[in-house]
Amino acid sequence: MNLTGKRVAVLGCGRSGVAAAHLAAAHGAARVCIFDSDPEAVCSDAAVEFVPGASKEEARGYSADLVVISPGIEADKPWALAFTCAGAPIIGEVELASRYFRGRIIAITGTNGKTTTTALIEHILLQAGRSAKACGNYGYPFCEVALQKPQPEFAVLEISSFQLETVQSFRPEVAVWLNFAPDHMDRYTKLSDYYEAKLRIFENMDEQQIAIIRVGEKIPPIKPKIVEFSAYAGSGLLRYEDCCIKQIDTTVADLTGTALQQAHNAENCMAAILACRAVGLKDDEIVPALTNFEPPHHRCEFVAEQHGVLWLNDSKSTNLHSTEAAIRSQSRPIVLLIGGKDKGLDYTPLLPTMQGKVKLCVVFGQIAEQLERTLGNQHRTVRVRTVREAVDTAAKHAVAGDVVLFSPATSSFDQYKSYAQRGDDFRHSVQEKVHS
Ligand code: ADP
Repeated sequence: MNLTGKRVAVLGCGRSGVAAAHLAAAHGAARVCIFDSDPEAVCSDAAVEFVPGASKEEARGYSADLVVISPGIEADKPWALAFTCAGAPIIGEVELASRYFRGRIIAITGTNGKTTTTALIEHILLQAGRSAKACGNYGYPFCEVALQKPQPEFAVLEISSFQLETVQSFRPEVAVWLNFAPDHMDRYTKLSDYYEAKLRIFENMDEQQIAIIRVGEKIPPIKPKIVEFSAYAGSGLLRYEDCCIKQIDTTVADLTGTALQQAHNAENCMAAILACRAVGLKDDEIVPALTNFEPPHHRCEFVAEQHGVLWLNDSKSTNLHSTEAAIRSQSRPIVLLIGGKDKGLDYTPLLPTMQGKVKLCVVFGQIAEQLERTLGNQHRTVRVRTVREAVDTAAKHAVAGDVVLFSPATSSFDQYKSYAQRGDDFRHSVQEKVHS
């Protein structure tokens, strides 16, 4: 793509917007300006031209040749479309980066497990002595990787449905599809829109490339070669038995004692093994790295064990599917702390998984009342307002041998800025409690 002499509008002043602006400028754009619709928005880089609170008139007046949009902004809404009045195409930050990245791309999507799997693949590649950078939805913009000199051999790219909405020619060498479950119904009007966006990961791939897909996922015919895995089904190239990842009857990796032995993490592990094999690594370069890998924080993370009660922080659980995985992974009776923002999800499908495992639900936040109605018929349920109150209630009811599982099953934005802030609040509340 030749940007020489072109006017580029970057929408959204977050880190990926700033990185996109730098990448466009580095490739010869005549003018690059970042726009944000929020009048209070602050751009972290004073060296970049920036218009906060941009109106649609300003958008039209800029006459962009190319519009690069950040994933938080919807490309089909009037504000974004105003920038295209002179016929400029809209692409996402990932698409822009992929046009200038000369290395190999391993892309990871799915409703849950993307960050863990991305981190794991990067960890394996680095331990095998290869240069690799985890990026994308992972929190490190792909455009920053494309700006690196030299660029790493591998971009390990976590890619969300929002980012996939604005790809055009993006084509990874390996694409990982971890799973699909209802989510983001506050952004999409139909579940099929979310699914269609995710499927775009395969759109430009052909027979030379590899798609790594969980057994049972409903994927229409695609061109890349498919390799399947599952920790739950017996089929697929890799399966999970007695804490071991197996291929036919051979043990590929024994996860006993590692931080990855819960079934959902075993699936992330299988996907990572297959992705690394697909780019040419041998099992003896891959498997040793599994033993010293620590999943990122807020994902079924140990917080404390006191008087026989185990406290786990799974604040990153922002949908039913991840809470189901967390419940399934517990062998102790569960006091489940669940609640947060109303994302338009129906919680009835959680009930079969909770059966026989959850002894008490403590519901909190904006959806507390809805949860009390949905879960309360079949489970003893206590409604509270805040996470702190939920911890107090759990402490009163949990007995030795129980696990208190903080797995909210929705996002945190009713009371917090992020899942991380929510998880930190949980951790601090628990620590105060166990030390009081
Ligand atoms: P993502 O980046 O897709 O949100 P994370 O690795 O951050 O995925 O994990 C998000 C949540 O999903 C956490 O609650 C975690 O425990 C859970 N989780 C991780 N991997 C899986 C998986 N393969 N299947 C289901 N849940 C998972």
